[in-house]
Amino acid sequence: MEDDPLLAGVLSRRADLIGLAQDLIRIPTVNPPGQNYRRICDYLAARFLAQGWEVDHIRAIGAPGDSDAFPRWNLIARFQTGPGPCVHFNSHHDVVEPGHGWTRDPFAATVEGDRIYGRGACDMKGGLAASIIAAEAFIAARPGFRGAVEISATADEESGGYGGVAHLARQGWFTPGRVDHVIIPEPLHKDRICLGHRGVWWAEVETKGRIAHGSMPFLGDSAIRHMGAVLQEIEERLYPILATRQTEMPVVPEGARTSTLNINSVHGGQVEPMPGDTSLPAPCVADSCRIVLDRRFLIEEALPEVKAEVRRLLDRLAETRPGFRYEIRDLFEVQPSMTDRDAPVVSSTARAIERVLSRHPEFVASPGTYDQKHIDRIGKLGNCIAYGPGLLHLAHQPDEWVGIGDMLDSARVMALVLDDLLR
Ligand SMILES: [Zn+2]
Repeated sequence: MEDDPLLAGVLSRRADLIGLAQDLIRIPTVNPPGQNYRRICDYLAARFLAQGWEVDHIRAIGAPGDSDAFPRWNLIARFQTGPGPCVHFNSHHDVVEPGHGWTRDPFAATVEGDRIYGRGACDMKGGLAASIIAAEAFIAARPGFRGAVEISATADEESGGYGGVAHLARQGWFTPGRVDHVIIPEPLHKDRICLGHRGVWWAEVETKGRIAHGSMPFLGDSAIRHMGAVLQEIEERLYPILATRQTEMPVVPEGARTSTLNINSVHGGQVEPMPGDTSLPAPCVADSCRIVLDRRFLIEEALPEVKAEVRRLLDRLAETRPGFRYEIRDLFEVQPSMTDRDAPVVSSTARAIERVLSRHPEFVASPGTYDQKHIDRIGKLGNCIAYGPGLLHLAHQPDEWVGIGDMLDSARVMALVLDDLLR
């Protein structure tokens, strides 16, 4: 039996928590293209308004993907008793496509034993539902609390967050003073506190050639062969160097504690035939070949040097390899983000985990990025973590699920954090 009315209040909301998570999963907010964003915001707004919260609907007009067919709607709900700090829970409401391999309807939100199955169950509608239940139980049990609780449901995290948290941060919604502590209930698991993430640089490298008849390739210059040389340089020179760079960040899984580079795609020569086009390919020497690099860098590395390292490799080929010409284009970049281990939201969450789960939390960092980057870099708010129920490896998988017990445990942790930071 739980004798603290706050924690008892969370546990007594078990059926409500399950129903809420199911309702959220049943609104298919698939991104791309960004479906049903207004619908999920309206659903949540109705719940918040009925309990006396203020709500704001914010559309990120002009953000990538925003259109009248697929508007980028965000919701921010606030419950304030008076002056004092603001604790903000930010969840993205978009989910990725179901993909293949499901053995259940991805949007039916079926409950089986302790699990709720569905696209977004773990990433991250389970976390959103847990934070709402935690906040509602907290407000009911501690009506005299000081400050404000905010919950946002934001668009497009799965595609970079530009129609969501980046837009809101630019508009000042995450400015320190307005918001003091941010918890992002991403599925890092109920006993782990995620302090931040590595950086990202995507770039497209194109090698140039000269078209000629494929029966006389010596009359042309093959961009694909030039790209082969690039790939060989990456294999032989760059990968061994990257593997030696270790970060102090507690990135999980362990393999992501070094610098990494993935080659996301390679395209060269003739364009892919259109579906239904049964014609044979024509014999041509490729005059262009492109790869997309996905370089994940460490907080100890500087982005300009990360870029320069790749350029040097390409310039060396330009000096040594006859006919080698290239272009490189930046596609996307994100700076690493890492919250201090002794930041208030970190220590408060750590204490709450110890109390609810009777064990020390594990401090981790994420191999990929999430919306913390915008809160940190645009909002200039460093007191931010990711903490929420769900197992990260289930995210984006078929038969994704979230544990009901895990949601309840992390809702209890979140309620204690509110109690600690808003007393
Ligand atoms: Zn997510």
